[in-house]
Amino acid sequence: MKSTRLPIALQQAVMRCMREKLQLANQKLDTTYPEPEINYQQRGTSAGTAYLQYWQIRLNPVLLIENQQQFIDEVVPHELAHLLVYRRFGRAAAPHGKEWRWMMESILGVPPRRTHPFTVTSVQSKTYPYLCECRDHQLTVRRHNKVMRKEAEYRCSHCGTLLRFKSH
Ligand SMILES: [Zn+2]
Ligand SMILES: [Zn+2]
Repeated sequence: MKSTRLPIALQQAVMRCMREKLQLANQKLDTTYPEPEINYQQRGTSAGTAYLQYWQIRLNPVLLIENQQQFIDEVVPHELAHLLVYRRFGRAAAPHGKEWRWMMESILGVPPRRTHPFTVTSVQSKTYPYLCECRDHQLTVRRHNKVMRKEAEYRCSHCGTLLRFKSH
């Protein structure tokens, strides 16, 4: 497993942001919610995930290094808000529903965006170019290997023709 070395100062900035926002929430909500655990084991193209029952936030170290300010400004509050909503409203609340938006906007003071506007190309897995009669397609490594081994065929959902590997 490849691990990404995270500068201590960056980890401290993340913790500082989390603590500030948590303190703000505890003041406004008159609660004493404890600090969640933050770790850096999120992989793939997600910026982070909130593990509700574990009271834990997993952040993507590769994307954190590339998008430090956005993580501090948005990703950390975004995931913290998921935990806070879970504590306050339970599982019934929709992931980015009105409770979450209220938590972000009114309590944490952060614009409630569902997704983060940074590029994820550095962590995207490789895809293979395919063609049909109408457009370009990208197949994942897994699907491409199935086609190569003749275990699967894929059709375009628009024109219905079989996808052909666009080998160069
Ligand atoms: Zn979310
Ligand atoms: Zn097509």
